[in-house]
Amino acid sequence: MSPVHPHPDRRSPLVLEVHELARRTGAMKQVSTTVPAPADLGIHMIGVPHGSDIELGLRLEAVTEGVLVTGTADVQLHGQCSRCLDDIEGEASFDLQELFFYPGHEVEEDESVVVDETIDLEEALRDAVVLELPFTPLCEEDCRGLCPECGVNLNDDPEHSHGQRVDPRWEKLADLGGDAPN
Ligand SMILES: [Zn+2]
Ligand SMILES: [Zn+2]
Repeated sequence: MSPVHPHPDRRSPLVLEVHELARRTGAMKQVSTTVPAPADLGIHMIGVPHGSDIELGLRLEAVTEGVLVTGTADVQLHGQCSRCLDDIEGEASFDLQELFFYPGHEVEEDESVVVDETIDLEEALRDAVVLELPFTPLCEEDCRGLCPECGVNLNDDPEHSHGQRVDPRWEKLADLGGDAPN
């Protein structure tokens, strides 16, 4: 038995009309559009901010079994470095490819279908983005992280170490008769 697919929410910017393709195998349509990111498009330490712009560059092609969607989604990323906990801001491009089967085709649970001459890209987008995001995002490839003893950010203070009674910089300043740095 085919799983039940809910009727598309046509107000969703991720629902696209495909009736023009009208099951004419080989017919094609290019779609370039900017849509707001759906909620929860990410994993715990990094993701696409809800409502931020996603630029979609897609090709919709009628094939024998359905509508094949290929293209890219350019997104903003916001997250936190898993080593130093600094903010990460960036952009990324993800490849999308999904075949939406015509009604009547026996589909598996995780397969997509054309419903009422529309396709809903949300699940395909979610899979394309979420599966590619790093579980341990880094601000820099060689981020030094935090001092395990006092938690100071080692990127800001690469010479940082413990076990000395007096910080050498303070000693130097003391010699010069200056004030200790704050
Ligand atoms: Zn970092
Ligand atoms: Zn420390």
